[in-house]
Amino acid sequence: MSDQPTDTPFIRFRHVKKGYRFAGEAISIFDDLDLDIPRGDFVAVMGPSGSGKSTLLNMLAGVESPDAGEIAIGAARLDLMGESARSAWRAHNMGIVFQFYNLLPMLTAAENVELPLLLKPVSAKERCIRVGKVLDLVGLAGRERQYPGLMSGGQQQRVGIARAIAADPDLLLCDEPTGDLDRKSADDVLAMLRLLNRELGKTIVMVTHDPQAARHARRTLHLDKGRFVDERETA
Ligand code: ADP
Repeated sequence: MSDQPTDTPFIRFRHVKKGYRFAGEAISIFDDLDLDIPRGDFVAVMGPSGSGKSTLLNMLAGVESPDAGEIAIGAARLDLMGESARSAWRAHNMGIVFQFYNLLPMLTAAENVELPLLLKPVSAKERCIRVGKVLDLVGLAGRERQYPGLMSGGQQQRVGIARAIAADPDLLLCDEPTGDLDRKSADDVLAMLRLLNRELGKTIVMVTHDPQAARHARRTLHLDKGRFVDERETA
């Protein structure tokens, strides 16, 4: 990703088209979507149910491919990759934070956080050091051996964030990261995302329904009927 000219946005959608077939009918979600997100940005994506937020996130994650158009992240052209290349790319280049944490209940906090590191050429000793470091960063030092089922929602989400950053990706995708949390835990998680953006330079794209959550981002993109409308700077 380092061979990219600095004036090229980190994330680029050009003329992206995406639709589904449902009950024999073609449904268009995006007809001609452009998107530029510079490296180091923290973007909240809001919009009514059905406006395409999940579809956008899935295309960014390389889980779904566009019907037409270009999707580039750094030097990688996701739209030109096959499914297995996209999933390998995803495993090495982004962290994903889910609404319901997606932790494996039979693994401890440390073992959950270690998972993305198992895909990398990292020694067991180095894995242990990195796991300790990221759990410390999210305020969970000493909880390594705890199982997710014994943790609060806020703590589980912090384990989810630690797992997302364990392999040190440049990009974090967050899908309603505070949707299952009370206000206080939500604010803690959002403060953590801000810190990751401002101190560690992570580029963050966060889908959220919550205007208070969106305020933590640098800017908010509103999706409506397959288009971005009324972009407001929030910080
Ligand atoms: P949001 O996340 O904003 O609620 P989605 O991206 O989930 O929106 O969905 C956008 C539209 O695409 C909705 O009308 C939804 O019903 C439709 N859609 C999403 N995924 C599929 C699919 N796999 N098959 C058919 N229609 C889908």
